[in-house]
Amino acid sequence: MGVKTGLACAAADVAHWGLTSVLKRGGGNVPGTLALKLDPQIIADLAPALEGSIVVTGTNGKTTTNGLIADGLAAADYDVVCNRAGNNMQTGIAAAIVAGRRGSRGTGAGAAGAGAAAGKKRFGAFECDELYTVRVLPQLKPRALVLLNLFRDQLDRYGEIDHTQDVIAQALEKSPTTTLIYNADDPLCAAIADRVPNSSIGFGIDEPTGLEADRISDSRFCAKCNAPLDYDYVHYGQLGKYRCPKCGWERPELAYAARNVALECGRDGGYSWDICGADGFSQHVKTRYNGLYMVFNVTAVAAALQFAGADTEKLDQVIADYEPAGGRMHTYHVLGRDVVSNLAKNPAGFDRMISEVKAADSCLMAFFLNDNDADGHDISWIWDVDFEKLCELDLERVFVGGTRKNDLQVRLKYAGIDARLIDGIEDAVRGCFGADDALELHSVANYTVFPTVTADLKRLDGTERPAGSADVAAGCARVELGCVADAGLAGAIARPLRIVHLYPDALNLYGDGGNIASLRQRCEWRGIPVVVDQVRMGEELDLSDADVVLLGGGADRDQLAVCKELLAQKEKLAAYVESDGALLAICGGYQLLGRFYMMGNTQVEGLGVIGAETRSGEGRLIHNVAINSPVACTPIVGFENHGGRTYLDDGETPLGTPLVAGTGNNEFAVGEGVLHKGVVGTYFHGPVLPKNPQVTDWLIAHALERRGIACELPALDDAYETAAHDVALDIVRG
Ligand code: GLN
Repeated sequence: MGVKTGLACAAADVAHWGLTSVLKRGGGNVPGTLALKLDPQIIADLAPALEGSIVVTGTNGKTTTNGLIADGLAAADYDVVCNRAGNNMQTGIAAAIVAGRRGSRGTGAGAAGAGAAAGKKRFGAFECDELYTVRVLPQLKPRALVLLNLFRDQLDRYGEIDHTQDVIAQALEKSPTTTLIYNADDPLCAAIADRVPNSSIGFGIDEPTGLEADRISDSRFCAKCNAPLDYDYVHYGQLGKYRCPKCGWERPELAYAARNVALECGRDGGYSWDICGADGFSQHVKTRYNGLYMVFNVTAVAAALQFAGADTEKLDQVIADYEPAGGRMHTYHVLGRDVVSNLAKNPAGFDRMISEVKAADSCLMAFFLNDNDADGHDISWIWDVDFEKLCELDLERVFVGGTRKNDLQVRLKYAGIDARLIDGIEDAVRGCFGADDALELHSVANYTVFPTVTADLKRLDGTERPAGSADVAAGCARVELGCVADAGLAGAIARPLRIVHLYPDALNLYGDGGNIASLRQRCEWRGIPVVVDQVRMGEELDLSDADVVLLGGGADRDQLAVCKELLAQKEKLAAYVESDGALLAICGGYQLLGRFYMMGNTQVEGLGVIGAETRSGEGRLIHNVAINSPVACTPIVGFENHGGRTYLDDGETPLGTPLVAGTGNNEFAVGEGVLHKGVVGTYFHGPVLPKNPQVTDWLIAHALERRGIACELPALDDAYETAAHDVALDIVRG
């Protein structure tokens, strides 16, 4: 070991000792940060001491999969070095590797890291944040990178998924000896396998699983030619068996296939299935979890262990013994009630939790949402979660907590659920006093609020309901609809207001479904008859009797597919705009309305219905934002996340003036968006309408007026919306 490396290790050891022995805290990232400062190559310098290593990345399931791989390696008699506590950036991996060289526990290594017995081969199992793969892989040169899935997640940190794909591909290219073990059911992962020179092994589920489809999925476009993919079956999100009808690109062969997947009945059911692998490998496995994602995770574990040459004989026992890290998937007994606690951080994760809550037939639940750095400041994604599916349950009490609980309350309102605000999980349990004691309360919390929920649950675990505590009256968990129906207004409208949602299968990146929900509900609550038509890719566009049109936001690739589709029939949209039609165009959709926009360095022709062009700039503009606008009497709030910069022609009027300079159309403009006849173009996600009901009402009123129906829209009860709006405004104002 060189002097620099030795010094770096010694400093990290001291920091680790200080933190764990003196301050009684977890080692965390600090020893790794220190070691990397003194020796930026420390991962490369220490990697040769390992027999080999496996890195796990992907949006969901990293910690569980990596924990299982570590346990599997330990069961196969390896001495395992692992960042089990989930510190998955370069610093966390450096800390684990430094600690591992002493044969001591890797940071939070648990049982798997405990053995440093002589003669054992030392092997690394590390989870790695997607964006850090490019720093870790070239140094560590692991034998395999396990890529689990790619879903929209913390888009304000990751940018668009295309960017995450690029980073992982670069990481692999810089570590050519690493084999990619990837989820072949995910076209976004398969696309990476396709473009890198590394050898690769695909895994997946080789049969339909019959799960309810999610409303939103990430890009389902061909990685080769961008045509929409055809699916034989979908498991969830974009995962399934796909094929491009245009160029024939399809799900690659599964080297490890899950077959005979069955969900056992009952509470302790869980999935069982066979893993059929290369070279006649075959193993039957069972988990006690009801989430299909565990089938993917465990199949990946088997593939990784096999690849590392570890015996998988004890895999079933490893799975049975596995305790999820940090209190995930755990049941506590709190104040007399069982509370099932889970973590979910993005729409795909939340949707999986909702299907588990549904499988458990729950009627008591609590959701927590924080918007700290590690969660992502943009919370638009809650509108991509299928909370509507909860309405099939016989809901009794629903609670919302966290720094953005007001936004969750609004989101649930539009799903038809009336949720109560709480400060913590204890409030939820107390709020359930009076409900049948045998019913479980299900809690789902996102990243930074989850430890708080866990700490409260641990503190209260094993407690019974205090004697003499009063029942809380059962709250109605349903929103009353049709509260201010106006018969006069309904009578004046001969045919329903027709809302046309353009290409929801492609432009839906930041909860655009919420804009439709706001338009529809605010009409229905007033008794205005309304229909929503979706026009999907490849379908005939008919705007002849449209009243409000929505074009959402999207990643560059999806945006390009829509652009091609619309260019071929642009005169229809131009005529609609010319005839004063109401059109809401968000971000990517807004950019398409101009003369051109940039896709990387390539200029793409736009629809030219407004006088604007979108050029590229340095980095992305990512902020909470607010503008003063003539269409609303309070500032319009939202969240922007775009690479393109839009410049309006002199004759065009912006939608509003930013409260904070440097936000909006571009960093130099004093305007945000465009207001052009009935067109509201904006960079605001949020989604903008449920966050700013006045904008929804402006669009509805504009549409009615165009139909010759002059009226004053009746006021609605917007207390929840106003509270969420004010929280967002406070964030912008700092
Ligand atoms: N892809 C476009 C950009 O980055 C639009 C993004 C969006 O809709 N959020 O500028």
